[in-house]
Amino acid sequence: MENWQKELQRTIVKPEELAKLYGIDVEKAREVARRYPVRIPRYYLDLIGSSGDPLGLQSVPAPVELEDPDGLEDPLAEESQSPVPGLVWRYPDRALLLVTTICAMYCRFCTRKRLVGKKNVYTPQVVSKAIEYIAQHPAIRDVIISGGDPLTLDDATITGIVSQLRKIAHVDIIRIDTKTPCVLPSRITDDLCRALTPYHPIYINTHFNHPRELTPQAREACERLVNHGFPVGNQTVLLKDVNDDPQIMKELMLGLLKMRVKPYYLYQCDLIEGGSHFRTPIEKGLEIIEALRGHVSGMAVPHFVVDAPGGGGKIPLIPETLLAVTEKEWVLKNFEGKTVTYPRSEIALKSESAKERKLKTEQTTC
Ligand SMILES: *Cc1c(COP(=O)(O)O)cnc(C)c1O
Repeated sequence: MENWQKELQRTIVKPEELAKLYGIDVEKAREVARRYPVRIPRYYLDLIGSSGDPLGLQSVPAPVELEDPDGLEDPLAEESQSPVPGLVWRYPDRALLLVTTICAMYCRFCTRKRLVGKKNVYTPQVVSKAIEYIAQHPAIRDVIISGGDPLTLDDATITGIVSQLRKIAHVDIIRIDTKTPCVLPSRITDDLCRALTPYHPIYINTHFNHPRELTPQAREACERLVNHGFPVGNQTVLLKDVNDDPQIMKELMLGLLKMRVKPYYLYQCDLIEGGSHFRTPIEKGLEIIEALRGHVSGMAVPHFVVDAPGGGGKIPLIPETLLAVTEKEWVLKNFEGKTVTYPRSEIALKSESAKERKLKTEQTTC
C-alpha cells in the first residue's frame, strides 16, 4: 500500500473525535454526520486552528447544516442532464464524467452532497458504460473527470479510465478535477504523474479556498504536476467567513500563481442543502473581482461565475465597466474608477448599419 493510501485510511471519520476537538455537542455532530459524511485527512486537520478557523469551517461538521431552509439536494439539476449514469452533459462540446463518490475530505459546502460517500454508485461497469456513451457522441471533445475525487482511485484505475478516453479519437482534451493537492498532497506522486503523461493533453483543476492551504507540501504537489506537463488551474468557492474578503482572495490568487497554478473560476456558492451559512450576496464576488482587476496581474483574476440553479450552466459576472454609448464615444470606467472615453470614428460608424446605430442610440437614451 502506498503512503497516501495509508494516510487516507487514517482520515478522521468519527464525529465524536471532532466534537471533542472543536467543542461541538457530540449528539449534534453525530446527527450531522448521519446526514452528510465527514472526513478530514490528518494533514489537513493539522492545519486547522481553533473554532471559527476558515479551514475548520470548510471541513468540520456544523449543527447549522441541519437548519438550512432553502438548500437543494441537486442544485445544478445534474440528474436531469445525465443521459447515462455517471455522465453530466450540459454544454455542447464537453461533459462531466463522475468516476467515484469518495473524497479525501468531505467539504461541508460540497455541490454533490447528495452523492459523496455513497457506496457502489460509480462501479467500473457504470464508468465503462458512460465512456461508451462518450465514444458514441462525437460532439464531446472535452471530458472532465470528477466525482468525488478521481485521485482517490489508485494509479491503475485512474490510468485505465484516462487511457480508455484517450482511445476515443474525438476526445481532444481530458481534465481531472481533484482537491488532493490541497487536502492530501502526498497523493501526487512521481509514479502517478509518470503513469498519466502518455495520455496528454491532460489538464488538472484543483481546489484551494484559503491562502493558509498553500503549504510547502501543497506547493510541491502542484509543481510536480506542472513539471510533468499538466497545466494546473484552480477553482475557488466563495464562502462566507472563509474567503469573502478582497485581501484574503488577493493573497490566495497571488500565492497560487507563485506555485504555477492559474486561478480559473471563482464560484458563487451553490444552493446546496446544509450550506446556507456559506452563502454571500453576489455583490461580494463582484467586489472581490473589482479589487483584483487591474490591481494585480490579469493572470491572478479568476472568472467569477454563478452556476445557475436548475442546470442553466455557468454565468459569468463582471463588474460594470461600459458606462454609456453615445453617438460619438463609448464611456468606460478604468480600474481606478476614472471615466475614460473611446471615440467612435467616422469609419467605424460607416461600417455599422443604420439600423444597428439606431438601436444603440436607443439603448443609450433609456
Ligand atoms: C463546469 C462544467 C463543465 C466545464 O465548464 P468549463 O467552463 O469548460 O470549464 C462541463 N460540464 C459541466 C456539467 C460543468 O458543470
